[in-house]
Amino acid sequence: MPSLGNRDVSCPHCGAVVKTRMSPEISAGENPDLRQRVLDETLFDWKCPECGYEAQLVYPCLYHDKENHFMVYVVPNSGCCPLEPVDVGEAFPQFNGLAKRVVSSLAGLKEKVLIFEAGLNDFAVELVKLALTDVAGKKHHKTATAGYFCFADEKENRIGFSFFLQGEEKPVQQGTRMDVYRKSLEIVESVGTVLQDDQFIAVDSAAAEDILRVYRGGEE
Ligand SMILES: [Zn+2]
Repeated sequence: MPSLGNRDVSCPHCGAVVKTRMSPEISAGENPDLRQRVLDETLFDWKCPECGYEAQLVYPCLYHDKENHFMVYVVPNSGCCPLEPVDVGEAFPQFNGLAKRVVSSLAGLKEKVLIFEAGLNDFAVELVKLALTDVAGKKHHKTATAGYFCFADEKENRIGFSFFLQGEEKPVQQGTRMDVYRKSLEIVESVGTVLQDDQFIAVDSAAAEDILRVYRGGEE
């Protein structure tokens, strides 16, 4: 039987058909090499052995980490491969009780891995990021188009992010005190975010704005 992850890929440059190993399912515990490739952002790197052409081969991928209680579904928004809706409770009963997130990019997956491995609440991290997006933009007089969590250091009382500014290729770093994270966590807990165990949800800037709306509404 052919390996589940082996697919034929046609090189967009020379047309060679290349047997390519894909990893539609990654277990953090069993595939430490693939976890590292997520953190290096090289998981989807593809190189044609015939002509040397390099490309990003992005495909849907399910990452799970039982030890840190989370799983992330990477659903590329390029729409290359239509997805069947997954009933997680039925398909993966062993993952009941895990936080389930959906992201659209490898950078998004890497961010979730860093957040959950650090034992942080990703709703609260998104709230901090939302505030810092504004700070980073004002500081550099540009619009911040995307931001990613980088690290949290309790001892140094710092939480750090990188932000991409409009028209700039390299991200800028922006951090703040962990107190801001703790305050954000209080907000998340006071709002009582409903966590549906059986569904993959996007916890992003839109989710953070929803929380703020409810929080501010509740204060009136
Ligand atoms: Zn080629």
